[in-house]
Amino acid sequence: VRQVIARVPAKINLVLAVGAVRPDGYHELATVFQAVSLYDEVVASPGDGVSVSASGPYGYAVPAGDLNIAVRAARTLAHHAGIAADVRLDITKAIPVAGGLAGGSADAAGALLACNELWRLGLDDRDLSGIAAALGSDVPFMLAGGTAVGTGRGEQLRHLDTAGMLHWVLAIADGQLSTSAVYRRLDSVRTSQSVSKPDVGQSILTALQTADPVAVGLALRNDLQEVAVELRPTLTQTLQTGRDLGAVSGIVSGSGPTCAFLARSADHARSLAAELVSAGVCADAIAVAGPAFLSE
Ligand code: ATP
Repeated sequence: VRQVIARVPAKINLVLAVGAVRPDGYHELATVFQAVSLYDEVVASPGDGVSVSASGPYGYAVPAGDLNIAVRAARTLAHHAGIAADVRLDITKAIPVAGGLAGGSADAAGALLACNELWRLGLDDRDLSGIAAALGSDVPFMLAGGTAVGTGRGEQLRHLDTAGMLHWVLAIADGQLSTSAVYRRLDSVRTSQSVSKPDVGQSILTALQTADPVAVGLALRNDLQEVAVELRPTLTQTLQTGRDLGAVSGIVSGSGPTCAFLARSADHARSLAAELVSAGVCADAIAVAGPAFLSE
């Protein structure tokens, strides 16, 4: 039986500038995404209707049936192509669920890529990217991978070339944070302020041209960090401990609760990960590198 395997990376946001709420309810964003080497695997094989299974470290937390965004991705793609949606999706889940790492969006991107191949639709990146944007704001980036500036609600992408690899430690928290709860909280603390047009700023773009960790570290910024930390106060200690242990810089990833620490090298990332786990300030810590890419 023919099957197609897609390996899809997680993402972190090196900059996440959050603007005003738009008439359609989304926040205007300016963000720098980087895909990192923590991968889910999405296997598409022939099926009758769409079914999904999930295994791996975080498989238990993946929703079944049409609540699963990978299932919705397969259905949307079939609908677009005018064919019956027949596929079995098997997800191996290594990316924590609701961790601020866009794991659901990664699975949706993986399902699009794998079903396009399994069904021999031959849709190009542009077609797939349009379908991806309808599924979720982060899905177009997850389909592209690498490093990119995202504007609009994050779906309008400009790819960035980076001079080299950055080495990170993902400090995985116990439990989840709801992205919508984090944005609602931000809105509630912002009511009396005027919100300016979001911009990633020049410093991160310049820093990425050399991929110097110190320069990148100084340019990290996340407008959701303060509210994510309010909702999960233990993150204060996680961030402080990472810095005390010698991380170049540390930031909440997306809407959290995962924290991303920047290291000087792959070796430094590995030792920092072990020290963070020993310090007991996270459930797990994983050394990764970016930019990473999808593969089939
Ligand atoms: P982001 O960084 O984009 O805010 P996140 O990493 O916080 O996302 P995800 O893991 O992408 O969160 O998923 C958030 C929600 O999507 C979860 O509450 C989960 O129930 C639902 N979901 C649907 N399909 C999936 C999937 N395949 N994997 C993980 N979560 C899924």
